[in-house]
Amino acid sequence: MRVLIVGAGVAGLAARRALVRRGFTVKVIERNRSAGAGGAGLFLPGNGVRALCDLGLREGLFRLSHAVNSQRFYNERGRLLLSVDTNEYWRDVASCRSIRRSDLWQLLNDGMDPDDIEFRQIVDISSNNQGCHVYFADGCMDDFDLVIGADGVNSAVRGLTFKQAASPEYVGNVCWRFIVPNTCSVDEWSVMLGADRSLLAKPISKTELYIYADMSVDQASAGDYSYETPLLPLFEAIAGPLRPALELSSEAVVHFAELVRLWMGTWYQNRVALVGDAAHASPPSMAQGACLAIEDALVLAEELAATPGIEIALGRYQSRQKVRADWVHRQCAARDKMRRLPPAVRNGLLRFAGGAIYRRSYSLLKKPL
Ligand SMILES: Cc1cc2nc3c(=O)[nH]c(=O)nc-3n(C[C@H](O)[C@H](O)[C@H](O)COP(=O)(O)OP(=O)(O)OC[C@H]3O[C@@H](n4cnc5c(N)ncnc54)[C@H](O)[C@@H]3O)c2cc1C
Repeated sequence: MRVLIVGAGVAGLAARRALVRRGFTVKVIERNRSAGAGGAGLFLPGNGVRALCDLGLREGLFRLSHAVNSQRFYNERGRLLLSVDTNEYWRDVASCRSIRRSDLWQLLNDGMDPDDIEFRQIVDISSNNQGCHVYFADGCMDDFDLVIGADGVNSAVRGLTFKQAASPEYVGNVCWRFIVPNTCSVDEWSVMLGADRSLLAKPISKTELYIYADMSVDQASAGDYSYETPLLPLFEAIAGPLRPALELSSEAVVHFAELVRLWMGTWYQNRVALVGDAAHASPPSMAQGACLAIEDALVLAEELAATPGIEIALGRYQSRQKVRADWVHRQCAARDKMRRLPPAVRNGLLRFAGGAIYRRSYSLLKKPL
C-alpha cells in the first residue's frame, strides 16, 4: 500500500512512524522547511506519554522531557486552591512529562529516513474507493492508495476533500507562549488564575520554564494583540512568584495564537483520512492536541494493518478515536466555562470539588486505546 502523509507536524510524523513500524511504504510532504525548528513547549499528560512509548520512543522521551509530578492551581493572590498528584492519578497509564516542541519533533524523526520528507505542496486530490490522484504545486501528479491529511488546523487536505466541513471556530481566548530561564524557582506545573486571564508555568528542563499566558478577548478585539504585545502590563497583577519570568518575556521568542476549535462529523472520505488538528483541533485547556494526534497515528496504523479493506479500517479508526476527541472537546468547553465563572465561585469549586472535576475530566483518556 502506498501512503501519502501531508504535513510533518506531530500528527504526520507520528503517523509515519506508526505506519513504517507496521511495514507500510510512506511518503511525507511538508510545506515549511523550518517545520520542527521553533515552537515553545508541550505538556504531555499520561495518555500522550503512553502513546509515545507505544511508538517505541520511551527511552528518548524520558531523556528529552521533564517530569510533571503535580499540577497546582492558585488564585490571583497566590493562594493554593488545588494540587493534583499526577503521579498518583496517572499511575496505571504513564507519568506526565513536559517537552520542548522541537525536541518532540526530533524524537518522532529519530531513526526515520530523512528522505521520506519532501518539501512540496498539493493543489488537488481526486479520490474514489480505489485510491487517490494527487496533484502537486510543481505540476506533477502521483497515485496513492491512501492520503492522510496531517496538515494542521487549517488543513488543505480537509479543504480539498471535505467541501462541507465547518471552519475552525474562535473560542474567545488569545494566548502567548515562551521559554525562559527558571529564575522563579518554580518546581512544578503551576497556574495563577485571574478573572479573565491565567498564567501558567511548567519546568521544561532543570533550568528552564515554559510559560503559557492567556486572556479572554472578544473576536473583534483579538486582532489588537500579537507576539509583540508587552506581557508584563497584562499579567503582572496575577503573576505573583512568576513575575521574573514575565519580565524576561521581552527577551524571549514569543509565540502568539488565537485559540480555536474544530469539530467534524466524519474524518474520512473514500481514501482520504484526517489525523490530529486537521480532524479535531481543540483549545489547549486539556493539553490533549498533541497527545490525541499521536494516539490517532497509532490507532490508524493498527487498523490499516489488521483490517482487510482500507475503508473499513478508516471507519474503525474513526469510531475508536472520535469518541476520545469528542470527549476532549466537551471537557475543554466545560473547563473554559468554569474559568469564566465569577472568581469567587470558580475558586470555591476548585477548592472543594477540583480534585473530582480533574479526575473525571481525564477519566476516558486513561482507558486503553
Ligand atoms: C497554545 C497552544 C498550546 C498547546 N499546548 C498543548 C499541550 O500542552 N499538550 C498537547 O498535547 N497539545 C497542545 N496543543 C495542541 C498541539 O499543539 C496540536 O494539537 C498539535 O501540534 C497538532 O499537531 P498536528 O501535527 O495535527 O498539526 P501541526 O502541529 O499544526 O502540524 C501541521 C504540519 O503540517 C504542515 N502543513 C500545513 N499545511 C500544509 C500543506 N498544505 N502542505 C504540506 N504541509 C502542510 C505544517 O507546516 C506543519 O508542519 C497546544 C496548542 C496550542 C494552540
